[in-house]
Amino acid sequence: MSSMVVAVDLNKFFGDFQALDKVSLEIEHGEVLCIIGPSGSGKSTLLRCINQLERIDSGAIWIDDELIGFRQEGDKLYQLNDTEIARQRLSSGMVFQRFNLFAHMTVLENIIEGPVIVQRRTKSAVIPEAMALLEKVGLTDKKNAYPSELSGGQQQRIAIARALAMKPKLMLFDEPTSALDPELVSDVLNVMRDLATSGMTMVVVTHELGFAREVANRVVFMDRGKIIESGTPQEILSNPKEKRTQDFIAAVL
Ligand code: ADP
Ligand code: MG
Repeated sequence: MSSMVVAVDLNKFFGDFQALDKVSLEIEHGEVLCIIGPSGSGKSTLLRCINQLERIDSGAIWIDDELIGFRQEGDKLYQLNDTEIARQRLSSGMVFQRFNLFAHMTVLENIIEGPVIVQRRTKSAVIPEAMALLEKVGLTDKKNAYPSELSGGQQQRIAIARALAMKPKLMLFDEPTSALDPELVSDVLNVMRDLATSGMTMVVVTHELGFAREVANRVVFMDRGKIIESGTPQEILSNPKEKRTQDFIAAVL
C-alpha cells in the first residue's frame, strides 16, 4: 500500500441515521483532495472519522500503512485505547470552520503549545520553527498578539500554523473559510495554496469551487453519506455525470 490514506467501506451511524454509507477513498502522498456536497451529506463526519474524532461502525482506515483505531494480532483486531488513539491522531492536523485558538494565549504560545506540551519538545527548539511558520502564514508581526486582537482570517491562518507545528503527515480542512468575511477568504486560501505547492497531503471540505478547480488534484462529490462521483476538477466541476452533482454545482455557482 502506498497511498497516504486508504479508507475502505466506511459506515457510520448516529442512532438510526446513516451519516456515512460504504465510503471508500484513497488519497495519494502529496495529493490535494477537495470534498464538496450539500449540508448534511457527511463531509465533516468523514474528516472526523479519518482524524478519529468519531469512531467508524465498520470499514477500515489506514494512514501511511498504519491501521487506524485498531491493533492487529494474528487475525484478531483489538480496539486501541485513548492514549494510542491520541498518538495516532497526531498524524493528521485539522483546521475547523471556527478557529479554535486558546483565547488566553498569545499567537506564539498557541503555536508552540502542542509541540511543547504534547510532544514534550523544548521551547528553544520549537520557537524557531514557530517563527518560520508565522512567516509562512504572513503573520510574524502578530506573534505577541492575543486571538481577540486578530481578524477571523488572521486567526484561521494561526490555526493552520498551529496544526502544522505538530508536523502532521496530512492536513484536514473542514470548511476553513466558511465563517470568514468575504474579503478575508483569499488570505487563507493563499496560505492553503502555498501549502499544497509545498507537497503537503491535504483533504479540504470547501464550497470554494474556484479553489478546488485551481488547487485540487481530485474532487469528490458527496450526498446523503455516499460518494456520488469523483474525478479531476475538470470532470467534476465542469462535466459532472451525475444529476445530483450537476444540481449541486449549479446551485453553488
Ligand atoms: P456535512 O459536513 O456534509 O454538512 P455532517 O458530516 O456534519 O455533514 O453530518 C452528516 C449528518 O450526520 C447530518 O445529518 C448530521 O445532522 C448528522 N450528524 C453529524 N454529527 C452527528 C452527531 N454527533 N449526532 C447525531 N447526528 C449527527
Ligand atoms: Mg460539515
